[in-house]
Amino acid sequence: MRVIFIGPPGAGKGTQSQRLLRYLGVPHISTGEILRDAVRMHTTEGLLAEKYMNEGHLVPDPIIIKLVGIRMDQADCKVGCLLDGFPRTLGQAQALDSYLQGRGIPLSGVLELRVNEEVLIQRLAGRGRTDDEPAVTRQRFQTYRERTEPLLEYYQERGLLAAINGIGTTDEVFERIKSALDGFQRRAAAARPTDPTKSA
Ligand code: AMP
Repeated sequence: MRVIFIGPPGAGKGTQSQRLLRYLGVPHISTGEILRDAVRMHTTEGLLAEKYMNEGHLVPDPIIIKLVGIRMDQADCKVGCLLDGFPRTLGQAQALDSYLQGRGIPLSGVLELRVNEEVLIQRLAGRGRTDDEPAVTRQRFQTYRERTEPLLEYYQERGLLAAINGIGTTDEVFERIKSALDGFQRRAAAARPTDPTKSA
């Protein structure tokens, strides 16, 4: 399965991704983690990305698209992947579409984790990451609304979006995610061409 996970900062994508990737048995591609590693290792991309991350802005599309392409080309992604935090702009979504189309790989679906902003602000206050301080958090929300929310319509129009209520216990939210995945699987099965040799 190839699944995209979209949600505002603090929605619980990280926690749910950990469970989801065990459940799906696919690699987890978190662009935030890839970037934080790049910053720690002082790679060219890390040096370019750091300033944007510290200010709560998005790292420019060409850097992200290159890093994700390299990761998705690795052998373990043949079975699928869970994309967490990518795509975050329409440009990234279009780049992903052409990557997948060029290889004849379908996208199973997009999970949107929905949590209202008051709850998110409370959650982020307890997390202690350097980009979680209030001014940066506000910027990250604004970036989400302006750059990433338009993707929801993009995937909705393609019939790929499942909105998940992200309020509740980790177990409750995970159950909702599993039902959405069942929906993705049913849709994929219905879209598969029938094998004439197997018909009566
Ligand atoms: P995250 O851990 O997903 O919240 O990402 C942390 C930071 O990394 C974001 O605030 C952005 O600065 C940067 N980042 C992560 N993913 C992307 C992406 N797909 N496009 C641009 N910037 C990203």
